[in-house]
Amino acid sequence: MSTRRPILSFCLLMLAFPCIAQTQATPIMGFTPATATHENEVENKFKAIPSPDEERRQHHIFTAEPHVAGSARNNELARYIADQWRTEGLEDVIIRRYDVYGSNPRSTLLEMTAPVHYRAGLRELPVPGDPDMKNKAISSAWSGMSASGEVTAPLVYAHSGNPEDYDLLRKQGIDVKGKVVLVRYSNPYSYRGFKALTAEREGAAAILIYSDPAEDGYKKGKVVPNGPWGPEYHIQRGAITYDFMVPGDPLTPGWASIPGAKRIPVEQAVSIPKIMALPLSWHDAKPLLAQMDGPVAPDDWQGGLPIKYHLGGKRVRVHVKIEMDNSTQPYYVVEGRIRGAELPDEWIVLGNHRDAWVFGGVDPSSGTASMMELTRALGKLAKAGTRPKRTIVVCSWDGEEVGLTGSTEWGEQFADELRKKAVAYINVDSSTSGPNFHGQAVASLAPMLVETSRTLKDPSGKSLYGAWKESSARERAEAKLSEEVTDLNLADTRIGSGSDHTVFLNFVGMPVLGLQFDGPYGVYHSAYDDFFWMNHFGDPGYHYHTLMSQLWGVLALRLANADLLPFDFASYASNIRQFVNELAKANEKNMWGQPPSAVQPGEARKQPPLDLKPVLAAIDDFESAGKRLDDSAARALSSGSIDPKLAATINHGAMQVERNWLNPDGIPGRPWFKHILYGARFTYAHLELPGLTEAVEKQDWPTANQQAEILRLALVNNTKLLNELNSTLNGETADAGK
Ligand SMILES: [Zn+2]
Repeated sequence: MSTRRPILSFCLLMLAFPCIAQTQATPIMGFTPATATHENEVENKFKAIPSPDEERRQHHIFTAEPHVAGSARNNELARYIADQWRTEGLEDVIIRRYDVYGSNPRSTLLEMTAPVHYRAGLRELPVPGDPDMKNKAISSAWSGMSASGEVTAPLVYAHSGNPEDYDLLRKQGIDVKGKVVLVRYSNPYSYRGFKALTAEREGAAAILIYSDPAEDGYKKGKVVPNGPWGPEYHIQRGAITYDFMVPGDPLTPGWASIPGAKRIPVEQAVSIPKIMALPLSWHDAKPLLAQMDGPVAPDDWQGGLPIKYHLGGKRVRVHVKIEMDNSTQPYYVVEGRIRGAELPDEWIVLGNHRDAWVFGGVDPSSGTASMMELTRALGKLAKAGTRPKRTIVVCSWDGEEVGLTGSTEWGEQFADELRKKAVAYINVDSSTSGPNFHGQAVASLAPMLVETSRTLKDPSGKSLYGAWKESSARERAEAKLSEEVTDLNLADTRIGSGSDHTVFLNFVGMPVLGLQFDGPYGVYHSAYDDFFWMNHFGDPGYHYHTLMSQLWGVLALRLANADLLPFDFASYASNIRQFVNELAKANEKNMWGQPPSAVQPGEARKQPPLDLKPVLAAIDDFESAGKRLDDSAARALSSGSIDPKLAATINHGAMQVERNWLNPDGIPGRPWFKHILYGARFTYAHLELPGLTEAVEKQDWPTANQQAEILRLALVNNTKLLNELNSTLNGETADAGK
């Protein structure tokens, strides 16, 4: 809960503690005036430690060699992190092992056999000035979780590889069954695993996914080594795992793949694709596209290459051969902590993945460098006797790129303990590819994220808050969105999948935050995403890496040291209301059979098959309860001190709210995903109220009514919980005032 009205609480603070106001203590959500003063001191000490030189030094260590999941180098880096953490003063440092279904290439081959012969190089060539690109250990093109096999078949161009693209092909009389499809990485981003599943459902024998220069290459701007965009040979590797069905090791869905764990047969694993896949550079895609016949592709299917794109299907034939090694493989998660001085059994969990497709300049080693400076700073403070109240747990995940694997296995292994102890999870995947900040949070933590951004300085000289607001306004203008940027919508509260927060939010029921700086970046998952790229384009001074360490750490410290956890449940309620209203608006036709404008004057509108009024009423109640608790919390905090036992009761109750959004049965068809407010589409795009929304979109009214009732009951349940907490808090506050 939180003090939602900073102006009011600041006035209260000034009345109660004029002396503190004079020394300009900044009020902080969840802190009393006195503890806020102390917190400011701790944060200032903390923020002074991370340095750009150290960020760069760490970044160089992590990007020195390719370190894909399961590789000797990635495992060596796990040991390096563990050693560093021990030296820095972190406690209980341990490397946890998970034995997972492996997916590594033995051999890959692509050649055009007709009308002319062309053998794809599947390699990324060196560029002047970047010594790392000469490294012999750079892998060739491959897709994680591709099936093994061999086929020689006609090639069809299927644009972005989305279902509607195949509809268009069908209309043109082109069937892809048994053929090979060539698709491009799409903008807006759609997860390549969704393209693979779509091609598999269409009966294609293999899918080739290439990077068109219109997406991330010369059509965008200067390419490496002269600019940040992808050069001719860059290959966007990546997994095609169906982790939108269930993430983690495909053979242990819902439990941890610790050595000796039960495993399901490969044939039963829903997240393993049955189609062969290969990523291509445009250098290797161009000769194929140039030879294709058939109808000319529609205008919006034309790409950035100086050729006419055709749909193909006859003249061009390709031979694809892929052999994967699927033997069981160990992945390693490194875990360490700074034990809390007062509440060691309340945890703030932080994480970043370590594995990279190649060098991982941005993804993920920028985040790893930021994490290493964060842990060094926390360790230094702890050694000097400044320890957080609650425990801060830090994890280096493995196999994120394959299927969010390490974090999922760890989250599944410790789910029960996390549900008791965890306050929140803060994820940093890539920390930096440019200067524009993006902050994500479940709606209850969005206000504290915005508040925290005010206390940090952006390299531009503005506050991070100011810089964030400016870049958000710019991005919204570019996207032609009319919504103005305000404190209430600055943080992104729509959370999809695609990184390590997934298990914590969707399976464990923990509030999550995600942090990233971004900018022009065309080398994602290619070998060109390396130390050279970062030093020339992404963050040459490492100032954004440093700012990320500071921000990540200050957020962790605030959650770790708060008297009352800074959740804002009234804000949560208004977000949920927005989700429900948007669902109703987007599905007007599904729900009413016709838009309201189509109803003739005097004509009675028929009843919709789903009534959302009870849900909206329950949201109103939840919001009122949230506001009352916010007010009580603000009063309790401004009174100057709060009984630790009372605070513990309130905090444990507040931690329960997120767990109560879980439906143990999961969303229909995807039982692993249990959160009823947040989910992801198969494209990884955020999907609010996933069970309800999918049912409404399918016009499956019995399921939609069931899902609406599940949502209503969760709201009722959480309203009751907040009311109880409010009574407890007020009872105690009244007593203390006697
Ligand atoms: Zn990543």
